[in-house]
Amino acid sequence: MSHNVKGWCPGALRPMESGDGLIVRLRPRASRLGIGQALALADLAEAHGSGEFDLGNRASLQFRGIRQKSLPELHQALHTLDLLDDDPAREARRNILTTPITNDPETLGLSAALEAALAEDLDLPAKFGFAVDTGARAILGGASADIRLERAKEGLIVRADGMALGERVSAATAVERAMDIARWFSAHAADHRRMSTLITAGGEPPLKAASPPLRGEPLQPAETEAGSCVALPFGRLTAATLRALATGPLRLTPWRSVLVGAVVAPAPDWIIDPADPRLRVSACPGKPSCGSASVVTRELAAGLAPHLPGSASLHVSGCAKGCAHPRSADITLTGRMGRFDLIRNGRACDPPALQDLSIDDVHTLLRGPLAPPL
Ligand code: SF4
Repeated sequence: MSHNVKGWCPGALRPMESGDGLIVRLRPRASRLGIGQALALADLAEAHGSGEFDLGNRASLQFRGIRQKSLPELHQALHTLDLLDDDPAREARRNILTTPITNDPETLGLSAALEAALAEDLDLPAKFGFAVDTGARAILGGASADIRLERAKEGLIVRADGMALGERVSAATAVERAMDIARWFSAHAADHRRMSTLITAGGEPPLKAASPPLRGEPLQPAETEAGSCVALPFGRLTAATLRALATGPLRLTPWRSVLVGAVVAPAPDWIIDPADPRLRVSACPGKPSCGSASVVTRELAAGLAPHLPGSASLHVSGCAKGCAHPRSADITLTGRMGRFDLIRNGRACDPPALQDLSIDDVHTLLRGPLAPPL
């Protein structure tokens, strides 16, 4: 099987080639890992790969640098850890983001029931996903999902992404109604890949829109009622970091962070301050980790982070695909043939304001007294 098809979502059963080996993406059930799972994954990363992971924007965990010949052994180990699906199609459908802020039985039960329902052979696009966001407040509204289970003032709702209101449901009916809407999408999507674009184009999901979700804010690195939220620069963590964090069960978030028990001794690279400027910087792995990159990205981004003014955001992308931050940033630096294009208030693929910059040019432009207003 070829592993270098661009534009698909890699999974554990569908790994993707990268400059440093295979990317093997795990979707932990209910966006959670037990202590034993986390410790075993750390060992597997060192035994079969580069010893590093990336946190994904759907609360996934990606092994980096897995060797092709290690795949059968890795798959066997993941199966034993209950982290592997029966087949690639089911794995692709099991795209469920579960809120990290609560462990209440209703939320975990809905996530498990939805996972079981997605065993149904339903034709959905690779990036189509679900959010079980049924804590006291819905905090995953900015994270990628197409069908959302949330909490409204009146109780649970199911909402199609792109609609302001959701249909009131009970815990007993929520998953079946979510699946009804997924089936409707499958039958009516035509060329649309996401629910919100289908709705913008006039699609009307079959639900009785009645209530808005109770909205909350995304988790920031801090001590919270649910535990300590620790972010990792660029979402990269080593096996050693994973072991250090696994003092209790881990809840993965879509914000390059994990929610853990109390942090006793944070490492210097852990982000535990919500004002840390590294939270406003995105960068893909770049060269040499990704074969599409012609520039080194994360070292540059880390060097520029302390110089970012105010609340400005920076995205350093190895190429115009913009994997690390598909949205607009105040400043985006896009690698092209070993140099950088600079885009203001745009995405990595947008027209640049400045072209063909060297690293020295970038530093001169964005650091110190010569920095232009953002
Ligand atoms: S944006 Fe970065 S990670 Fe994505 S394809 Fe380009 S170089 Fe690779």
